[in-house]
Amino acid sequence: MEEFLFDPHTHTAETSKCGHLPAAEVVDRYVRNGFSGLVVTDHLHPEYLSRIDKDHDWNKVMDHYLSGYHASRKRGDEVGFQVILGAELRFPENDNDYLVYGIDEDWLRSNPYVCCMSAREFWQKFHDQVLIIHAHPYRDGNTVVFEDAVHGTEIINGNPRHDNHNDLALDLARRHPGFFRLAGSDTHQAGDEARAGVILPEKPADSFAYKDLIEQRRFRLWSPEFQSFVDEDEKMRKEEAK
Ligand SMILES: [Zn+2]
Ligand SMILES: [Zn+2]
Repeated sequence: MEEFLFDPHTHTAETSKCGHLPAAEVVDRYVRNGFSGLVVTDHLHPEYLSRIDKDHDWNKVMDHYLSGYHASRKRGDEVGFQVILGAELRFPENDNDYLVYGIDEDWLRSNPYVCCMSAREFWQKFHDQVLIIHAHPYRDGNTVVFEDAVHGTEIINGNPRHDNHNDLALDLARRHPGFFRLAGSDTHQAGDEARAGVILPEKPADSFAYKDLIEQRRFRLWSPEFQSFVDEDEKMRKEEAK
């Protein structure tokens, strides 16, 4: 069976202040690493708004926010590489990050200031529309994990410049048997790329198709660096299938 390697957690320099690789270069690096696609999950949070939203104009904010995604898409289309839209949200209450899938440009534009509510309000409002995955829930000592406001969690965050405490994230997933367990590189700069991802049975056409594949549990984790976590996920998957 043909398989497709995707990274569901990447950033672009165009949109994310902490991103140091232009979108086209991110795409090129993933192509070189044999990936079939990636999800652009640039940061959307109050801090970003205070930097970008000088005119208090959400559509202008979105023009800027989507610039990284558009540049990725452009390069992806040139080289036959799938680029999908996602987002990494943070709310005013703390520094938790939430990956969101199953969205498009219309969704972003028609939900102004979506990062200005609380994580639980976001969950109540959107949990039956979008897929909400806790990114690196225990990174650098994050301790306030809202377990009731997510569909799942990264159990592998490949970013090498943070202590992500993936072991604690795996424990979190164990406590919530229904949680989706995900993996991603969280690429910001050279050397971050292609360290973790998901293996899919088909190329998702867009963010909605990606969400569907995850919800149907038609994916496996990939990360040579964190192979023991991949194996553990495989084991849990077999148990769940019984
Ligand atoms: Zn970042
Ligand atoms: Zn990230």
